[in-house]
Amino acid sequence: MLKNKTAVITGGSKGIGREIALKFAKNGANIAVIYSGNKERAEEACMAAGKFEVAAKCYQCDVSNFEQSKEICQNIISDFGGVDILVNNAGITKDNLLIRMSEQDFESVVDVNLKGAFNMTRHLSRYIMKSSAGRIINISSVAGITGNVGQANYCASKAGLIGLTKALAKEFALRNVTCNAIAPGFIETDMTKNLPEAVNEYIKTSVPLKRMGKPEEVADLALFLASSQAAYITGEVIKIGGRI
Ligand code: NAD
Repeated sequence: MLKNKTAVITGGSKGIGREIALKFAKNGANIAVIYSGNKERAEEACMAAGKFEVAAKCYQCDVSNFEQSKEICQNIISDFGGVDILVNNAGITKDNLLIRMSEQDFESVVDVNLKGAFNMTRHLSRYIMKSSAGRIINISSVAGITGNVGQANYCASKAGLIGLTKALAKEFALRNVTCNAIAPGFIETDMTKNLPEAVNEYIKTSVPLKRMGKPEEVADLALFLASSQAAYITGEVIKIGGRI
């Protein structure tokens, strides 16, 4: 499905990003994994991807840092020769009610979740445009569509990512590059492992499918959007949350 393509996945060493990296590798893509801190875990993810007989390499980078991400993107291009697919998946939460939210917690969440996607796209888009079928996939969130108490910073960043997606879909369409957003609901990862009991109860009672999603299920959607089957889909926000 993705044979001879090269995909860059930010935050690709754990959670949803790792599943996307492995799913893409299984389908023939060479993989560049961007990780923020844990080298061992990133190398393990690359080893797992490499078992599918593709090239896989990891790069340490804080995606919120414009200059650092520029340098890493240049390294990726010299290692792989080009990039076809970018998945902006890196994300953090720093939840608090707005009246208690510090300026730093607002800024750092927007810097990683939104500016990080800008940085990576800014540095890689000229190469993605050279691909015959370039793809940009931004991992937003249902929270960016509906809003959430205690997550003003996160919701703002994820809503911003949707605006970015729609603008880039229009800017890059002439070059045959599609840009779509995935908006997951509750997915079983480290990000959701310590949810308050009330939220777990809400999932069981109020999410129609009555469970959390699995990272593999998000990866299946990302694979579809990256594939030629999704060539005529752009500027969309696709929810995957077990609900309407
Ligand atoms: P996770 O915490 O397991 O993974 C987040 C990844 O982002 C990690 O690999 C981390 O190292 C990386 N990252 C964080 N800051 C970074 C930085 N400055 N530079 C580079 N990488 C950085 O969480 P996850 O659930 O796998 O989240 C993946 C994405 O999915 C995030 O954008 C998150 O907001 C989104 N999402 C998750 C859920 C959920 O329920 N888990 C729901 C909606 C959206």
